[in-house]
Amino acid sequence: MAASVSASSRVASRRHMGSVDAGAAMEKIRAAGLLRTRGLIGGKWVDAYDGKTIEVQNPATGEVLANVACMGNRETADAITSANTTFYTWSKLTASERSKALRKWHDLLMSHKEELALLMTLEQGKPMKEALGEVNYGASFIEFFAEEAKRVYGDIIPPTLADRRLLVLKQPIGVVGAITPWNFPLAMITRKVGPALACGCTVVVKPSEFTPLTALAAADLALQAGIPAGALNVVMGNAPEIGDELMQSTQVRKITFTGSTAVGKKLMAGSANTVKKVSLELGGNAPCIVFDDADIDVAVKGSLAAKFRNSGQTCVCANRILVQEGIYEKFASAFVKAVQSLQVGNGLEESTSQGPLINEAAVQKVEKFVGDATSKGANIMLGGKRHSLGMSFYEPTVVGNVSNDMLLFSEEVFGPVAPLIPFKTEEEAIHLANDTNAGLAAYMFTKNIARSWRVSEALEYGLVGVNEGLISTEVAPFGGVKQSGLGREGSKYGMDDYLEIKYVCMGNLG
Ligand code: ADP
Repeated sequence: MAASVSASSRVASRRHMGSVDAGAAMEKIRAAGLLRTRGLIGGKWVDAYDGKTIEVQNPATGEVLANVACMGNRETADAITSANTTFYTWSKLTASERSKALRKWHDLLMSHKEELALLMTLEQGKPMKEALGEVNYGASFIEFFAEEAKRVYGDIIPPTLADRRLLVLKQPIGVVGAITPWNFPLAMITRKVGPALACGCTVVVKPSEFTPLTALAAADLALQAGIPAGALNVVMGNAPEIGDELMQSTQVRKITFTGSTAVGKKLMAGSANTVKKVSLELGGNAPCIVFDDADIDVAVKGSLAAKFRNSGQTCVCANRILVQEGIYEKFASAFVKAVQSLQVGNGLEESTSQGPLINEAAVQKVEKFVGDATSKGANIMLGGKRHSLGMSFYEPTVVGNVSNDMLLFSEEVFGPVAPLIPFKTEEEAIHLANDTNAGLAAYMFTKNIARSWRVSEALEYGLVGVNEGLISTEVAPFGGVKQSGLGREGSKYGMDDYLEIKYVCMGNLG
């Protein structure tokens, strides 16, 4: 009895501390002028036309942080018109002028690092350390593409007839609709908006309804940086209505989306009618292969980072940890020990390394996957249930002896559950790794250089981490194969998706 009283009072005091901090955090954000709750259309902050709002909640406490405008097709139509009008001026600026505005936006994002990170922790739940990391990562796309703006080169092709000159121009595609998820409330926006604006496109962003506050604060800073009214618009609320309006519009020339595979397929189908260019970053089912010849410390550290970042809620999270049988026991016990050291709590608390899941539905999905695995013979090595903190907290979990007939193998769990899957040979590992419709990220741990080349080339994935679990950077291309998506974001390749190639033939030059 005494033990249970002290456990519950500990939970209460943690919650209390979290909510006190949350109040101070909100005050700080408000004082910086970054608590925006209306949409942004044509440089003006506007309410939903029918006055509707939706609540944004803190997943760690259930507290309502703000009520934001709940918009739909009419607001989206106006945002598209505004983006379309602005396209004709923004795209005519010199690359250097666009670059300067983007650079300034980057600097403002960085100088408001703390407020943006607090907003992310409050509305998404990720620990402050990760939120601060996301501000760096998110801002890095704006800096990188401010630089790339100046490097959109065309070509001159040797002509086939003497009196002709053949030129290739690269031109901005036009108005872009960008639909983004909640797990990276800032970076998924900047990774799209950065190259779009750099190329001369204008954008209508629809952030996730779970995390609109970070998006709106970032948009406020874009305005302050001198990104012109109408170049960047933000609408949120009724996702299918907003999505339909973006897809139906003939002015919107491109849809860029990060989110679930199911919604991505809908957007791809919906874009067919107006033949829009489509970039999709969809779900993954990342294998993380630990070979017998791996450095065990490197493998544990790397797979821990790849699995438990953002409490397992990223599309590049290690979803299946394949472990060769000679190292299985040793790796499993070292891995369980490492997972045990993860601290679950409110992301505002400094000691927290694992925040809550985004909502109750996410926890129920995790419970379903774990239940399915245990009913088919897998064993819980650690965790396996909701955390005593309540809300949507789930215990960091390790499940042993997972096999390919279980949901934990075939689908993305999107939570803090690490399934360990034993294998015998390299061929078997490659087969298991590729035995999925997804193809975003894959990881492997080995000290054998020849194997690292062989397996990297055999993996049907867009990204491969060798002896490293955190591989995303603004300078490298990010994107998937198979049903994980189309197109690449970040890096010099990230510009291509926002550009059209135009061939100009100059004839009769005498
Ligand atoms: P997740 O499961 O990660 O939340 P979703 O694909 O549901 O992924 O959400 C990603 C983004 O897609 C969010 O901004 C969400 O509001 C938006 N979205 C969801 N359904 C639709 C839809 N029918 N049309 C357009 N956008 C949508």
